[in-house]
Amino acid sequence: MTTEEIKDRILSYKAQGKRLFTTSSFQTHSIVLLHIISEVDNSIPVYFLNTGYLFPETLKFRDEVSAMLGLNVKDLQSVIPKSMQRDHEGKLFFVSDPDHCCSINKTQPLENILASHDIWINGVRADQSAARKAMKVEQSAPFGVTRFHPMLQWNAKSIYEYRKKYNLPSHSMESKGYFSVGCEPCTRRIDPQMQERDSRWFGMNKTECGLHTELINK
Ligand code: SF4
Repeated sequence: MTTEEIKDRILSYKAQGKRLFTTSSFQTHSIVLLHIISEVDNSIPVYFLNTGYLFPETLKFRDEVSAMLGLNVKDLQSVIPKSMQRDHEGKLFFVSDPDHCCSINKTQPLENILASHDIWINGVRADQSAARKAMKVEQSAPFGVTRFHPMLQWNAKSIYEYRKKYNLPSHSMESKGYFSVGCEPCTRRIDPQMQERDSRWFGMNKTECGLHTELINK
């Protein structure tokens, strides 16, 4: 979708009285959709899944982008304290059971938000993974929510061109070789032969946190 098409669709949802929200991981590529949304209505809530395991650089970028675009950012956190996020051997779940760790820190905190909204504006791109390639622009999600995927056909080049056009900043870790930045224990620097998202859950036989595999109706 073009920028104007995205804006028109958001305005159309609003005209229908739909309750909209978006989520953001505040990475370099996230800023394009946030910029577009802010130009339509910067009161639309931007939920940030603050797992407690994020890089300080990401928290700093969240604050900078939020202030620059005047966003309505809201942190979401698990109700389960970190001291309880350990298995029977005392290992933190991100070591012994990363799927469970993502579930309690990402998927579960978002369920309340789904239950109180109609439209989830979501910045997934088809070129990020096979699962995302199969997605549609609109797709149903639990709690009767419609996921709206306006960035599906965007790619690294179009993201770069948009950022350049509007002089938008980048996450400070990108220049150090981190192109997909998630939680600190589950993110590594990218090697030249790797794809963008290969740097996440490296060696863990895991490619998604569950937000785009569990909170979506197939
Ligand atoms: S990305 Fe890693 S640390 Fe973050 S919630 Fe998932 S398993 Fe836990």
